[in-house]
Order: sequence, then C-alpha cells, then structure tokens
Amino acid sequence: MDLQALLDDIAHDSAPFAAQGRVADYIPALAAVDPAQFGIALATMDGQLLGSGDWRSPFSIQSVSKAFSLALVLARDGESLWQRVGREPSGNPFNSLVQLEYEKGIPRNPFINAGALILIDRLLSLTGDSLGTLQAFLRAESGNAAVEVDAEVAASEAAHGHRNAALAHFMASCGNLENPVEVVLDHYVRQCSLTMSCGDLAKAGLFLANHGLLADGSRLLTRSEAKRINAIMLTCGTYDAAGDFAYRVGLPGKSGVGGGILAVLPERGILCVWSPALDAHGNSLAGVEALDRFTTRTGWSVF
Ligand code: GLN
Repeated sequence: MDLQALLDDIAHDSAPFAAQGRVADYIPALAAVDPAQFGIALATMDGQLLGSGDWRSPFSIQSVSKAFSLALVLARDGESLWQRVGREPSGNPFNSLVQLEYEKGIPRNPFINAGALILIDRLLSLTGDSLGTLQAFLRAESGNAAVEVDAEVAASEAAHGHRNAALAHFMASCGNLENPVEVVLDHYVRQCSLTMSCGDLAKAGLFLANHGLLADGSRLLTRSEAKRINAIMLTCGTYDAAGDFAYRVGLPGKSGVGGGILAVLPERGILCVWSPALDAHGNSLAGVEALDRFTTRTGWSVF
C-alpha cells in the first residue's frame, strides 16, 4: 500500500469538512486560530514518519495530553488510581458539572476534565511537578526538544476557567484532591496549552501501539496496562461522542479542543490528525472524517 498517496488523498478529501465546524471559542486564544488548517501524520512501528497537509505545524494539544497523563500515573500508581476516578463513559460533555455531585466527587473517567484534574493531582503528589514530568516525557518520545507551553493560550484558559475551578473545588470538598486547587488548575491549564505537531504526537504515542514499550526499548507500562489505556481511549476518549467515534473509526482515540486527535493502530503505529474546527461534542470535524476514511480504506481497525 502506498501510504503517502493514501494520506495525501485523505487530506485532500477531508480538509473541506472543516467548513462545517467551529473553533473552540470558550478559550478566546483558541478562537483566534485559522480553522482552514488540516494535518495528518502516521508514525509506524518500523520507524517511518509520514504526513500530509499541515502535519508539521504546532497546535494546542489540549485534552490529547490526558492520554499521556493517564499513562504516566498508571505506570507509577497501578490499580490504586481507580479508587479516585472511574472508567465508564460519562455520556456528558467533557466539562459537565452535574454528574460529579451525584457521584460524590469521583469523576466518571480520567478523560473528562474532572478526571484529568485527578491525574494531575496524583502526578503532582508523585513527582512534585506534573507539567515538568509530562513535558520531559513528550520531548523524549517525540524527539522534539521544543515542546513548550503556549503562555497566551494558558493565560486565556486560566482567565476563563471557571468550570474547571468549580470541578476542582467540588472534588476538594469531597476530599478527592491531595494538592491545593490553585496548583492543580495551574498545572492543568499549562499542560493543555502545550504545543506539538501531528508528527510530534504520532511519535510520542507509539508506546500505546507497542504494548507499553518506549522509543528506547524500555518499558513504561505493562502489556496489560497499555491494553487498559487503549480500552479507556476507545470508550471515553472522545467524550459523549465515543460511541459514534467507535462506530465510524473503530480505533482507540483521544481528542482535544485544539482540534487534534491521536488514534492508536495496535502493533502498527499512531495516526494523528489536526483540524481546529470542532463538532458539537468538541471533536475535530475534519479530523474524525479523516480517521473514518483511513480505517475504511485500509481496514486497519480493532474490529
Ligand atoms: N483545556 C480544555 C478545557 O479544560 C480541554 C478540553 C478538551 O480539550 N476537551 O476545557
């Protein structure tokens, strides 16, 4: 199969779908991004890195970062994490408040915002520097030393982060935060504001397709832990559209409101797409379209 020609084709056919979506505007700095951008990159297990469109352009990774946070916490904490956060799809928007009160401050899963705040809180307790640990990991695995926080995006989100603050304060009131709310929120917004390209993210995620083995051959996760993260990506990685994503794409995936989606092709590689215009659930419209086309044409799905 000519993978380069396939990616070019998919980029050509999928990019126009961005016109049907809208950039995230609840974080003002993201609303300023040009929606007419599209990139797709494929990193393969045998070391190839291919891409098409804007695949080398850095963008705000936002909640794609949460897949990496989960890996870093699970690698250190193992199963005890599940006393503080669940692993069921929420069926609600990623920043919803309502379920958290009924469920006594235990977020449904680690990928909704409340759950990611728990991951960051835990990584802070374990390492003293959640953001620094994640940033060092992403730099090492992507091979890009310029993985940086976009200070403007971080400040913009911090200034408008009332919902995330509400989630964090509510969890603190339930005794489910170990660190001060302000510190957890600060690491959260800066983590979401890290900028990487499709190519960077595809390389950095390869351990998820390789049963937990890192680029240097060392092991981050057991085989079973890597399987579990992929399962949670499939069931929860695209929020209240996870069922539709599984139906259309058939791969574990993690999206972010910057328009990025990282998808795992087990034992083959990582596919990362980026296009800033989102659907109503906060997933990249042209990005999901491209992943749908990719698995339809290659048959490389988990099903
Ligand atoms: N930083 C965003 C927020 O907290 C992340 C959400 C997302 O990418 N789905 O709202």
